Amino acid sequence: MPGINKTFAVATLGCKVNQYESSVITGMFENRGYQAVEFGQQADIYLINTCTVTHLSDRKSRQLIRRAVRANPNALVIVTGCYAQTSPNEILAIEGVNLVVGTVDRDKIVDFAEKAQGSTVVLNYVREIDQNIKFKELPAQVVTGRERAFLKIEEGCSNYCSYCIVPFARGPQRSRSFKDSLNQAKNLVEAGFKEIVLTGIHLGSYGSDLGSETNLNSLINSIIKIPGLSRLRLSSLEPMDITPALIDTIASQKGICHHLHIPLQSGDDQVLKNMRRNYSINEYKRVIKQIRERIPGIALTTDVMVGFPGETDQQFYNTCNLIKEISFSRLHVFKYSRRRGTPAAEFDFQIHPSVKEERSNILLALSRKLARDYASLHLGTIQEVLVEGSYNKKSGFDEGLTDNYQRVLFPSVFNKRGEIVNVKIESLQGENLSGTIV
Ligand code: SF4
Repeated sequence: MPGINKTFAVATLGCKVNQYESSVITGMFENRGYQAVEFGQQADIYLINTCTVTHLSDRKSRQLIRRAVRANPNALVIVTGCYAQTSPNEILAIEGVNLVVGTVDRDKIVDFAEKAQGSTVVLNYVREIDQNIKFKELPAQVVTGRERAFLKIEEGCSNYCSYCIVPFARGPQRSRSFKDSLNQAKNLVEAGFKEIVLTGIHLGSYGSDLGSETNLNSLINSIIKIPGLSRLRLSSLEPMDITPALIDTIASQKGICHHLHIPLQSGDDQVLKNMRRNYSINEYKRVIKQIRERIPGIALTTDVMVGFPGETDQQFYNTCNLIKEISFSRLHVFKYSRRRGTPAAEFDFQIHPSVKEERSNILLALSRKLARDYASLHLGTIQEVLVEGSYNKKSGFDEGLTDNYQRVLFPSVFNKRGEIVNVKIESLQGENLSGTIV
């Protein structure tokens, strides 16, 4: 086996889907005899799974590539992921890169690597994404050191929001078959995972290409019945994909995490229209109301973008006011990043970086306040926590997450990693909680 006695290291940027793919690609190399080592260590092969959602992700991707080349000039350096798919020439221009693979054909990435090992030229396998492409399985099991397992069930997006590069990097929406998704979930539970995180580029669109019977709600109702699964977590959901039936399932089925991440992006109807988001402020608020009525106390987090072209002070304040009105439990704040090839990159009235910075700082401060307010609601309660391991070696504390995504610190317990324990919440530590096991 060519991989025998060869080491291999992966670095991953970006979303849960990228994390999932890196964990499966690691399995593919291990199946061929390669030994996985940490990215900081010397390795024979380095793979960088890139992201291109903002210009900062591009820069971080290039930094990781150069770090790999410096770490071992004789190593094979492979670059894949969304930045590779949208800007292969920028990556091919980096001295020391041997192989570039886009976001398709990764099922053959080990073959490509073995071909590149014997090659004196740089190999470029990036190709146009066919609009009729089907969901393609990666031929290996998830390999991860984490306590929860990501499970990718959907690929691509066909929404084309005006600021977003993702549809160009990942191609059109497509779903994993119902049978394969359920089987992989069973394999993960058999492998000992207590928590599974369902993920996709546009998760809520799951099943829209698989016929009327199949959708995210029908799949969840099957996965949650797998014996031995303690928790099923949903990653980001577009507001218009959240149906009353799905809300009912989350409310009534034990084990589905009471945390939803629902991108808002802006609290102003005109800005939403310019972003080509497919909902209005009233439609968004209606979904939030339906969820809260059916699942009181649920954690609701969101993505908000500041500095979209043309965003006025008043439109920004509309966003701040809506966020306070909805009272999310945390915000992910993004500064608009001009992405070549997206419609918004050509819009007039691009906002000055200092204004983006100022607006971003206002929302980050608001997010800290909202996170503390929500966390403080847990004082005196007993929470189920999935143990992730030590907070930091010297602290003598372990950490873990509640089902509603609250991070909890508690005195270290031996051998409980990956287990769910009950913790009595006694105090706030910044935005985190702390307590003792009961
Ligand atoms: S829904 Fe919009 S923002 Fe999300 S991946 Fe699709 S195009 Fe991008």
